Amino acid sequence: MACQIQFPRSISTVRVRLIDTTGVMVSRSKPLIQPEEPMLEYLNIYVAAFLVEHKPSGKKIMFDLGIRKDYWNYPAILQKRLSEVIPALRVEKDVTEILKENGIQLDEISTVVWSHYHWDHIGNTAAFPSTTELVVGPGFKLAPNILPGYPLDPHSPVEAQIFANRTLREVDFASTDLHIGDYPAHDFFGDGSFYLLDTPGHCIGHICGLARTTADPESSFLLLGGDICHFPGVFRPSQQMPLPDPIPRGVLDPAKNFPLLCPCTLFTDNHPRRFMASFGDERRTPFFLIPTDANSSAYIDPKTAQGSVESLIAFDSHPDVMVCLAHDEDLVKKLPTLNNSPDNDLNSWKQRGLKDKITWTWLNHLPHNGQAGENFAVEGFWRDGQHWPSAKDELGVKGREALGA
Ligand SMILES: [Zn+2]
Repeated sequence: MACQIQFPRSISTVRVRLIDTTGVMVSRSKPLIQPEEPMLEYLNIYVAAFLVEHKPSGKKIMFDLGIRKDYWNYPAILQKRLSEVIPALRVEKDVTEILKENGIQLDEISTVVWSHYHWDHIGNTAAFPSTTELVVGPGFKLAPNILPGYPLDPHSPVEAQIFANRTLREVDFASTDLHIGDYPAHDFFGDGSFYLLDTPGHCIGHICGLARTTADPESSFLLLGGDICHFPGVFRPSQQMPLPDPIPRGVLDPAKNFPLLCPCTLFTDNHPRRFMASFGDERRTPFFLIPTDANSSAYIDPKTAQGSVESLIAFDSHPDVMVCLAHDEDLVKKLPTLNNSPDNDLNSWKQRGLKDKITWTWLNHLPHNGQAGENFAVEGFWRDGQHWPSAKDELGVKGREALGA
């Protein structure tokens, strides 16, 4: 059992606003969660990003950028990949547009932090002025086929243009012995207001953010999870945070014909891991695991990723922490965003009971009554607000030609 986390003390905070990046796609579930469940072959993937402001220094940073609107301009290897593995994708706006619409100019952003370098988190980083530094996780600079970037390396998934005249800083967790929970931590502003956490396993250099949203003696935190995992059912329920019985009112979608007073057995009786050898108490065992199949897993090191996500449970079950995965669709649907409520930050999340709004809502996405929990959130590929029926052919041809394959 994970021990209670000893948070470093501080009276410094950051202001955090959630951005709905407007990207939405459909992904097969198999690379993202295990075991496979009938009627849960696909997951809708929404993408959150975060604007983090440090008042004492006046600095604003972005944690992740979502998907760039003109995704057909990503490097060749991604165009090929999109054409092969993604069934549906639509992006209405770039994060850069959303910032500007809300009165935030790009030269005000001192740092862009990538939770990791995957295409659905790095937006159009090159659109930021060269004065905006880029911060990445450990191992990024030496990872194979990344730098110097596309097209200098035709197989790189990141554009060389991003790095032109820009400071690229790789977090060095080894330089201090600071740990928060099980994670090595880096104190970003040096005053305990915002930390980066070393959370490996999904890809080289994956990091999370930990933002102090209220100060000592009543500190509270948002854990910006990136892709530490892709679905909340990978760390919920847990020994420390069992599935409530009955399921609290307001959690289940009334349109889905759940009983008014819904017993948790409606879900635990169909616990996806019930046939697995290591299965424990169904109310206290996460519903899914990080997928281990080497051919399909989205995680380069599933065992390490499983360790990272198990260490997340101590944060998730802590009353002073709210975990925000980049792809938890209930964040952008249930919480205030910069898009729809620009002055509404997440700092008072605890006082406003926002964690209760998102903790168990993922149950709605599970199969129910022999039917899929969700329909596809988007059908096919979209470009400039229009359906783009030939996307897969065009992206595939362009991608393969540029790769000479
Ligand atoms: Zn992602």
